[in-house]
Amino acid sequence: MIPALKALARLKEGNTRFVANVRSHDALASSTRRMELAAGQAPFAIILGCSDSRVPAELVFDQGLGDLFVIRVAGNIVAPSQIGSVEFAAEQFHTRLVVILGHSQCGAVTATIEELRNPSDSAHSRNLRSIVGRIQPAVQGLLAELAGDEHALLHEACRANVRASANQLRHGSEIIEKLCAEDGLLIVGAEYSLETGVVDVFEKP
Ligand SMILES: [Zn+2]
Repeated sequence: MIPALKALARLKEGNTRFVANVRSHDALASSTRRMELAAGQAPFAIILGCSDSRVPAELVFDQGLGDLFVIRVAGNIVAPSQIGSVEFAAEQFHTRLVVILGHSQCGAVTATIEELRNPSDSAHSRNLRSIVGRIQPAVQGLLAELAGDEHALLHEACRANVRASANQLRHGSEIIEKLCAEDGLLIVGAEYSLETGVVDVFEKP
């Protein structure tokens, strides 16, 4: 079992390599490694990230086969299936770090801001609304506060959404609360910059 802070350091080192355009050899999926992993996995971190095609967790953290347990959903929201996935990995593989990975210019956050501004003429389906509805409480208060500054609004809204997801997950189930309190499970929030490639871990309990 890899302790949470050690796992976090490993992710940061990987992201530094990614930003510097250095690829580690470990990230290459050799047939030997594949065979080893067929017998069992021990991912050192759980990443709950956005589905955005520009933010693939394994690439931005320069990790390979078997390293990360990744859950991706538009807007990195925390719904019951995401909580269940985290519980599963934390219990089965004793993974002790969870990173909520949001990113700059998140389309799901933009859609939520639009929905809040024009609720009546929204073209969103019921399914998409279920995502937007989960992001809404985190960004609602920012609309008035940052009115007139679209750039700041989107920036702060993306971060607020990450913070909200991290808090929801921390209190998402008794199992997770117990793992956090007694077993060293750490849930942090981070933002990936589409422009620089840097992952900023800005939210810790
Ligand atoms: Zn996104």
